[in-house]
Amino acid sequence: MSRLIRFERTGGPEVLQWVEADVPPPLAGEVRIRHEAVGVNFIDTYHRSGLYPVPLPSGLGQEAAGVVEALGDGVSGFAPGDRVAYVGGALGAYSEVRNLSADLLVKLHDSLSFEQGAAMMMQGLTAQYLLRRTYRVQPGDTILIHAAAGGVGLIVCQWAKALGATVIGSVSSDAKAELARQHGCDHTIVYTRESVSARVREITGGAGVPVVYDSIGKDTFMDSLACLRPLGMMVTFGNASGPVPAFEPAILSKMGSLFLTRPALFHYTARREDLLAMADELFAVVASGQVRLSINQRYPLKDAATAHRELEARRTTGSTILIP
Ligand code: NDP
Repeated sequence: MSRLIRFERTGGPEVLQWVEADVPPPLAGEVRIRHEAVGVNFIDTYHRSGLYPVPLPSGLGQEAAGVVEALGDGVSGFAPGDRVAYVGGALGAYSEVRNLSADLLVKLHDSLSFEQGAAMMMQGLTAQYLLRRTYRVQPGDTILIHAAAGGVGLIVCQWAKALGATVIGSVSSDAKAELARQHGCDHTIVYTRESVSARVREITGGAGVPVVYDSIGKDTFMDSLACLRPLGMMVTFGNASGPVPAFEPAILSKMGSLFLTRPALFHYTARREDLLAMADELFAVVASGQVRLSINQRYPLKDAATAHRELEARRTTGSTILIP
């Protein structure tokens, strides 16, 4: 038996229900995990609202850390009692116990807590591919990250700084700007009152930046393009303000032969060897202290709706977790 969050129709946080369900024995290739901590991510709100449609009724959540309880046939490399974390797979991480494909699991290093595991798999692996693969940040680069005080944002600020970059971060308030600066952001822009592209041009002496990491979407997309130097890379990786509307590709030419990508973590982690290499790199920067995880909100699992309300109202900073 497991208690879990489920939703039968899409909508606001009020559609989330706290229910009980049996957990069958794990199928071949699966393990049963008892969650110790569950990650809350902005993508969970897209599933709940219907922006990213899923078959209903559905569980929710794609990230957690916990202990392996049982193995299905054919599972090797894991044993009951192992401490593990994961991101991806069928929705359903907002639960006490679940079954999951063993291919998605990574073992949690002894130095890392369950809370850290649950807070970093989605946001930290996203930071890894953004900074190390989508656009490989070089020492001396000046980069722009939007929502710099958010979950992905605070990790990107610290990691980019450790890679030798100068980091410009945009945020919605002075308090968030201060937090971003405490996490390696060299220049902050409060985008509720300043033009991001004008400030970026000022900071870079008119040159523009080689890469913009934009998870805001609709509200920031065009101005983000205006921040790039010729041949710069626009990485639009989220829709916190809504999806980017259709646009004319010739704009990319007019603004300096820009590159545009709309990446998703699950393509970068699709091959197990890539997942493991990315997780190794992430665990190393966290264990070394180069990246400190800021778990700034914790809620009981049954209060997932409250977590969603806070996240969508921009009242959170850093990472949010649920405790079963
Ligand atoms: P955050 O903690 O960054 O929360 C979202 C932030 O977006 C808010 O705190 C807020 O910061 C900002 N924001 C701007 N406009 C709005 C708006 N209209 N409504 C709500 N928030 C707004 O979330 P996560 O770290 O979980 O995720 C960050 C982004 O990265 C999300 O868009 C998510 O979808 C995306 N993502 C993409 C992945 C991928 O592979 N493509 C993987 C993981 C995450 P402020 O107040 O400073 O504006």
